Amino acid sequence: MEPILANKKLKIKKPNARNMVENVLEQFNSAADSIKLHPSIRKILSITNNEIIVHFPVKMDNGDVEIFTGYRVQHNNALGPYKGGLRYHPTVDIDAARALAMWMTWKTSLAGLPYGGGKGGIQLDPSLYSQSELERITRRFTYALGDNIGPEYDIPAPDVNTSAQTMAWIADTYMSAKPQTQRSMNQHVVTGKPVGSGGLEGRDRATGYGVFLTIKFWAEKNKVNLKGKTFIVQGFGNVGYWAALFLEKEGAKLTAVQDAFGSIKNANGIGVDSLFNYMQSNKGSIVGYNDATEMDNKDFFGTQCDILIPAALGNQITEKNAADIKAVLIAEGANGPTNVEGEKILLKKGVTIIPDILCNSGGVIASYFEWLQNRNGELWQLEEVILKLEKKMKESFMKVYDYSKTKKLDFRTAAYCMAILRIEKAYIQRGIFP
Ligand code: GLU
Repeated sequence: MEPILANKKLKIKKPNARNMVENVLEQFNSAADSIKLHPSIRKILSITNNEIIVHFPVKMDNGDVEIFTGYRVQHNNALGPYKGGLRYHPTVDIDAARALAMWMTWKTSLAGLPYGGGKGGIQLDPSLYSQSELERITRRFTYALGDNIGPEYDIPAPDVNTSAQTMAWIADTYMSAKPQTQRSMNQHVVTGKPVGSGGLEGRDRATGYGVFLTIKFWAEKNKVNLKGKTFIVQGFGNVGYWAALFLEKEGAKLTAVQDAFGSIKNANGIGVDSLFNYMQSNKGSIVGYNDATEMDNKDFFGTQCDILIPAALGNQITEKNAADIKAVLIAEGANGPTNVEGEKILLKKGVTIIPDILCNSGGVIASYFEWLQNRNGELWQLEEVILKLEKKMKESFMKVYDYSKTKKLDFRTAAYCMAILRIEKAYIQRGIFP
């Protein structure tokens, strides 16, 4: 069903979300061929379990009522409750949610977590709404989802344009709808909450730190010294910022950045925190930063560099720009940034891609820690979180690395194989009900 466009503010640029589903299915099928996946399990995993679409009214600051459309797609829960983020963006629709939910299934499986995959969000441009409007939109969306989410059933988390604050509103709304005596046992209905409200120390940086760690592990394996290496980042949100900060600490140099407003470059290096502070004082935009020059968006991917970190939206690296890319390593901070055609060109050129389901899995791994912390009534310290995260990321990286070498596969196919094999095993052990 096409979403009903009741929200007047929304100007939809039709996203290539259809391609995202095709893309994830093509990636899945080539790995499924490689492991000779059981045909029945291929059928099950090719389709989503549940798809929820809700339309809900919200009163705006000026008294008008607007109708919003929200989505939650639950792809698979063979390994545990559905898990994955909620994003607020004009490109959110049922196809985008489907593709992103599938990626979550592979991601949680590969990370060895007891979770399945889900994803959702609201189709809106959050920059057009006040903070109090966003709060009411979030609370009403949570209410509309009702028990389609739940701490042991489907656990959302932050994603594009949603934050710890968004999660706090969701948790509070969900918990308020439960009897007083059950409030605290529902706190883990979402992860990525603020530290004071059941959130995990370090969850904020976990995705970006994980991106950095996979780059570091790759460098160690290939005897590459990251000191002095140049890198460029697409998207300077939570993932892009933290990944850049940790790389800078390691001695690498950020030489170009692109965000939703434009692209900037400086071959001598851009200070990560200095750019971040500028962006915060500039309505969230990097454009106009004084220690860099502006560049055309279309030239961004062709910038001379050693490492490219796409940390924005899906479908950014395609057959149209893959040949221009100079980086030898691409670390996918975003979900689905590289399409299948783009990847073929890159692999032919000898570029290494650390795939999204491995590269950005630090976020959901930290989410799992937060969930455990809430469930057990514990409070973990930052050092403990970081150590546990490093251990898990290293295990995943090594698993993929070794499998790709033994089977002579690219990293993405290897990562998919590992993820799918674990789900296949669970189905074979349990059988199909009835
Ligand atoms: N949105 C993040 C992702 O795409 C985190 C999901 C989670 O923590 O559940 O991996």
